[in-house]
Amino acid sequence: MTKTTSLRPPHLLWKRAGWAVLGLILLLALGCGLISAGDHKLPVGPELAGLATFPAAQPPQGLAFTTLQTSQSNGAAEALIVAGGRWWVHRRPVQVAVLVRHPKGQLLFDTGLGRQVDAQFAGNNLFHRQVFAYERGGRLPVADQLQRQGWPLKDIKMIVPSHMHWDHISGLPDFPDAEVWATPAEREEAGHAHAPAFLRSQFDGVKHWRELRFEGPPVLGFAHSHDVFGDGSVLLLPLGGHTAGQVGMLLSLPSGQCYLFTGDVTWAIEGFHKPADRSWLLRRILPLDHDPAANQAAIVHIHQLMKRHPGITVVPAHDENVLKSLPHFPELRN
Ligand SMILES: [Zn+2]
Repeated sequence: MTKTTSLRPPHLLWKRAGWAVLGLILLLALGCGLISAGDHKLPVGPELAGLATFPAAQPPQGLAFTTLQTSQSNGAAEALIVAGGRWWVHRRPVQVAVLVRHPKGQLLFDTGLGRQVDAQFAGNNLFHRQVFAYERGGRLPVADQLQRQGWPLKDIKMIVPSHMHWDHISGLPDFPDAEVWATPAEREEAGHAHAPAFLRSQFDGVKHWRELRFEGPPVLGFAHSHDVFGDGSVLLLPLGGHTAGQVGMLLSLPSGQCYLFTGDVTWAIEGFHKPADRSWLLRRILPLDHDPAANQAAIVHIHQLMKRHPGITVVPAHDENVLKSLPHFPELRN
């Protein structure tokens, strides 16, 4: 008896493979569509009271700022970074410090990832080490970047973290003599929290805390403010929501240019333009905000502020595209 085998002609196999790939693409598109269906723009009500109140700043000659990028996340689809974003665009959030040089002192707003980040990050479990993975990409911690340019670390008199999440204060141990400014609400939250959002090893050794309270007048729709140098050039503003005591920084330069650093209210500038939160899927997988409603109110606030004051450059802490338009250390902008 002869054994027979049935072999399909090659063109039929290719046809089948083609249908399988098409089916997979359709399934993926359906999945993305279903995930995005939960994402909506945030409702924008009438303009907030006091939004027009712009501070009369008198920035001194010599005031300037720059940015120091320390690293970059592996990233994710833009649709996860911001609701309504594009699935086919890959975003790679950056970790950055902002250096303000004022005649009365120098401050860092955030620190990016510091010299000890690998040891700090090891406190996370395997899942979170994957989700929050970062890459140096040849970049150095802020302290090393400054030293390479002959910039004494002791000249950094104060550090104002936008908030105390790990990717913003990792460099605190590199500046043991600096005063670290934080609101009581932020210290309280960090004191009770844990990995992955807060890593105790980053702030347990801080020697000089300074309590940040907003006792200044209303500014741009914010009920209170804090004037760091007394000339209106560097104002700290309450932006609680993402964390209990998140802080924004409004910087007015001698040139008349004005920048508002908004921490992690959104991760991308598109969040303020639309306005929109991070994707609902991500917000369900990871508890991202201390008070989601307050953070959404902050998003709408900044959205309205940008419309009312288009001259103010708004800078979300992690937006890699906005970063491109800012000065990079050692270049300073005044
Ligand atoms: Zn962050």
